[in-house]
Amino acid sequence: MPSSNMQSTSKGRINPEGVKALFPIFHNNELTRNLSYLDNAATSQKPSSVMQAMDDAMRLFHSPVNRGFYPLAEQTTSRYEQSRERLKTFIGAQNKASIIFTASATDSINLVAQGFLLPRLKAGQSVWITRMEHHANYLPWQDVCEKSGATMRIIELNSIGELDLERHPEIFSDATAMLALTQISNVLGITNDVQAICAQAKQKNIPVLIDAAQAVVSNTLNVRELDCDFLVFSAHKMFGPNGIGLLYIAPERINQVQPVRLGGGMVDFAADSLADTIWSEVPHRFEAGSPNFVGAIGFAAACDFVESLGQGNIKAHIKELATMLHQELSRYPNLHLVSPAKHLSSGIVSFYHNDIHAHDLAQIMGDSNVAVRAGHHCAQPLLRHLDVSSTLRISISVYNNKDDIKAALNALAYAQKVFS
Ligand code: PMP
Repeated sequence: MPSSNMQSTSKGRINPEGVKALFPIFHNNELTRNLSYLDNAATSQKPSSVMQAMDDAMRLFHSPVNRGFYPLAEQTTSRYEQSRERLKTFIGAQNKASIIFTASATDSINLVAQGFLLPRLKAGQSVWITRMEHHANYLPWQDVCEKSGATMRIIELNSIGELDLERHPEIFSDATAMLALTQISNVLGITNDVQAICAQAKQKNIPVLIDAAQAVVSNTLNVRELDCDFLVFSAHKMFGPNGIGLLYIAPERINQVQPVRLGGGMVDFAADSLADTIWSEVPHRFEAGSPNFVGAIGFAAACDFVESLGQGNIKAHIKELATMLHQELSRYPNLHLVSPAKHLSSGIVSFYHNDIHAHDLAQIMGDSNVAVRAGHHCAQPLLRHLDVSSTLRISISVYNNKDDIKAALNALAYAQKVFS
């Protein structure tokens, strides 16, 4: 890795070369040295600071969490709890009890569906989601609806792909048991006004879950301002490790959620019958099993990394590159852009070719050292609505620069030539 002294930001602007120097993957491997990595909505690369924090956790501080009485174990436990504190401040939560470490955004949503909604959901009620949800925010609700006789209802989209809330005035009615929606679509890149939706839902006391998996890097999340009931994201999309995610539960909901993963570390008294069992205090009752200590340390370091760049700066950078890309792509007559020009601050641009399959394009682009995603992006209900089986998605991050965008455009032009 070059010992770069290039600053990662200057006067509030991201310097992608300076940022890239902080990511070992771009310097240590023949396969990645000249790679334009544009699959960031799937997962981001990791900076040295996150690796260093995790390395230290394993080398210097590792022992059981919440289970030992010797000084090392106490230090490990205290560092794990410091990570929880870091996540708490990162999302502006009121207290640490609201911060649950899970395995991922997917795991968090399943916990809410099974532990909060299923026990209270009744036949005849509705659970609203949107047409643009990732399967992670679709299947868990479908499951609890089918188990309880409730109906899963879908907020449809307008002609450019935005939520068409006016089409469904019954969302905010007494029959609605839950509303779950994404802040940013992982396919369209569209940002939803989740704060306004939460405010409307609040008037009817409808619980709202926000899937912030795509929003967390470029938006400062403040759960108190959002006034949401639940919020989820994964560390791996925000420069942190795989295998750890966050579930935020609002203080007024936390005692309405039943633990669904049962085991060690989440029970104060394991009785002869489950009815007499006494669960541990929150948040521990939701974290059965040995906690992912190293992951939590990396997650906290990822928060530091994101804040060191500044979410506002990140948004401005990825929007600038996405706008450049979108303008160039719109010149191709055979490409159909599904990401609208007014929603590029997510850094996600998806499109399809009228005649060439997205997989074929992505493969040729891959051979040209440009990593992009092709497929249904785990959003098949949306793709059915778009009436395509797959799109090609270019998703931009802090280490991408104009050369990456040019490389993608050149590779795409070449791929089109190959198949014409
Ligand atoms: N929601 C959205 C919007 C996503 O893009 C993803 C990941 N592609 C998820 C949820 C699920 O995240 P994970 O696989 O990390 O659980």
